[in-house]
Amino acid sequence: MPSSPSQHLMPTYARAPVSFQKGAGATLWDSDGVEYLDAIAGVAVTNLGHSHPAITEAICAQAGELLHTSNMFGIAWQQKLADKLCRQSGMENAFFCNSGAEANETALKLSRLHAQHRGIAQPQVLVMENSFHGRTFATLAATGNPAVHRGFEPLFPGFVRVPYNDIAAAQAAAKDHPNLVAVLVEPVQGEGGVRRASTEYFQALRALATENHWLLMVDEVQTGMGRTGEWFGYQHAGIQPDVITLAKGLGNGVPIGACLARGQAAELFAPGNHGSTFGGNPLACRVACTVVDVMLAQGIPARAAHLGRLLLQGLQQALAQQPQVVDVRGHGLMVGIEMDAPCTHLVARALQKERLLITVTRERTIRLLPPLICSEDEIAEIVRRVARLLKTDALEREVADSNKACAAR
Ligand SMILES: *Cc1c(COP(=O)(O)O)cnc(C)c1O
Repeated sequence: MPSSPSQHLMPTYARAPVSFQKGAGATLWDSDGVEYLDAIAGVAVTNLGHSHPAITEAICAQAGELLHTSNMFGIAWQQKLADKLCRQSGMENAFFCNSGAEANETALKLSRLHAQHRGIAQPQVLVMENSFHGRTFATLAATGNPAVHRGFEPLFPGFVRVPYNDIAAAQAAAKDHPNLVAVLVEPVQGEGGVRRASTEYFQALRALATENHWLLMVDEVQTGMGRTGEWFGYQHAGIQPDVITLAKGLGNGVPIGACLARGQAAELFAPGNHGSTFGGNPLACRVACTVVDVMLAQGIPARAAHLGRLLLQGLQQALAQQPQVVDVRGHGLMVGIEMDAPCTHLVARALQKERLLITVTRERTIRLLPPLICSEDEIAEIVRRVARLLKTDALEREVADSNKACAAR
């Protein structure tokens, strides 16, 4: 199972000692043929599971036709994808790039052009504590996590930060900072520990943005494409943003990001303002079109809502007696299990002992992001393995504590 780390890779990741070779649906096999259950979907990316036949077919067919030309020319699949995404989201136009961070960079550039129109020379964007928006210079500065900032100061300027899900704080910021031109917010803070803001909050934020001529920019990179039980997270609140960003689940593993806009925000870019060599190429766009088609044909968002309820209820029941579990919360197939102490060690433990892929975010929240095509049996199996994992962990902690007590005596 262990694969020795390469001397020639930059050590940016603390990798688990497993390499996977093959996947199908929610199942993965490592290089020794050992089978695992995937409860993270590559961090909300392979929403339709591994080796989905329609995705494989789209990749192979397009590889045999045309991979890349340039955005100097029309790209039929890009236009088709923009049409499909706008229909599902209520947005008006799209810019395609290659990642979530790039999609957010696009949104932030739109906010600068919006500021110019308003005659604001030193514009600011309202962002949230505990947020995550990416690792590029502007998006890392927008991110509300000191660990992401550390070492990269001076940070890109122009952000005002307030607590998430706190409308009074946003309203106060509107009074104190007349140069605010936009707000960037996640429907559920995924990296921030699976924290959700209320429907009332989003409705009030929409009203606040309109009143103050801000662009309401919703980062749907993790929550979009069915993950929360709707196509997009903001749809739970019945609001319409001015800008949304997408990436992760959009290509089911083929890199693609998108920034969608409507109203004035849809008219800000002109030729020469922004661009991407690879963004929106025929391969990525055809795959993303296939993702949308499969989601529509199979009612994937509703399925995610149903499976999410099963997973959440199953976990709440199974973990009710676990003293180290502080909270179990979820929104569709984004579920967080908050522990009373740091628990990053559980990732490797889950792999080795339970053959289960999980993530831990913000050190003490186990995050589950299973593929949206899971079976009910697979959801039940995730619950069983997580429950066993945490039970064993609690017992080991008890033993360790009593050993410590003995040693002290
Ligand atoms: C993952 C993520 C990003 C960054 O996406 P990349 O593709 O890694 O650049 C941005 N915002 C949110 C909410 C994310 O979850």
